[in-house]
Amino acid sequence: MASPTPLAPDHLGPTVCIGEILAEIVATTEGVGFKNPQPLVGPYPSGAAAIFIDQCRRMGGSAAMIGAVGDDDFGRMNTDRLARDDVDVSAIAIHPNLPTGTAFVRYQNDGKRDFVFNVWTSAAGTLSWTPAVEDVIARAGHLHVIGTSLARDHIWQMIERAAPLIKARGGTVSLDPNQRKELTKDTEGRFAKMILQTDLLLPSGDEIFLSTKGISEIDETDAIHAIFAQGVCEIVLKRGDVGATCFQSDGTITNAPAFIVKEVDPTGAGDCFGGAYVAARRLGMAVAESLTYACAAGARNVTMLGPMEGAGTRAQLENVIAITPRLDL
Ligand code: ATP
Ligand code: MG
Repeated sequence: MASPTPLAPDHLGPTVCIGEILAEIVATTEGVGFKNPQPLVGPYPSGAAAIFIDQCRRMGGSAAMIGAVGDDDFGRMNTDRLARDDVDVSAIAIHPNLPTGTAFVRYQNDGKRDFVFNVWTSAAGTLSWTPAVEDVIARAGHLHVIGTSLARDHIWQMIERAAPLIKARGGTVSLDPNQRKELTKDTEGRFAKMILQTDLLLPSGDEIFLSTKGISEIDETDAIHAIFAQGVCEIVLKRGDVGATCFQSDGTITNAPAFIVKEVDPTGAGDCFGGAYVAARRLGMAVAESLTYACAAGARNVTMLGPMEGAGTRAQLENVIAITPRLDL
């Protein structure tokens, strides 16, 4: 029999994510970079942390965002969107001078992406521990950590402070490594510290080997066991257009095939998948059902232009599940 959900129940308090909130502007033609004038669409609400938390709330989980925006329309676009979806925005700081962060993205012909970012030199770079943050953390039930933010000193300090406070009140932690390139030495240490506090790990592709880096000839099964040995109870491996697999520490393995959809804009799939999965598990759903919702959230997201545009409500995800064919297992 499968072990019960390792995540704190939703009623303990909101799932919290600390990180970037951005406005995203997308090139409408395929090609290389931004060196010439070209047609663009946007702004769209964005930022990995914001996408995750919006999908978590739309799925029906309680959710709170910790971030910083400028006192400008890009900031208001994001806070209005999150507030409309009933995300707790009380710990989003509004910086009086610095603008909201931005990301310009253009797809190349082979699906690779070119970005121009202004994230850490924007309001997002000033994120700090305020009384509003203290208040949200004091009533939070779960912390979701996005690996890229481990590289930012000011966010790492907040995560390091928040995680034990949330765990001390019976809360739990999930970690999406969100990192395909080599980790810096610095970040490797932080990742190792974080994984010791993690209940649910959400890697994609080779990220499953991040905590066994340097050990040669290790296969997926060994890597999974090495992660369980560090105290993680559940690992959900995201496999892009193939689907996802959940490994539980009692040995149960659950595969979920992908929905067959036309990919328009893959940005945000991993965050939507994670937001839906964490919400579903915290609401008490079993692994197989949670994976189905999460795969539907990832699939729906890639069919729409704009990273947060495809985040689906529970009813919208149920519609995807009802009408969309899936790969054979
Ligand atoms: P990101 O690029 O946002 O970091 P990721 O690498 O963390 O994403 P993916 O594996 O790309 O995560 O996507 C997460 C999930 O979304 C997949 O497990 C799958 O269920 C769904 N998904 C992603 N891309 C597609 C697709 N093209 N078709 C169907 N489902 C998809
Ligand atoms: Mg990812």
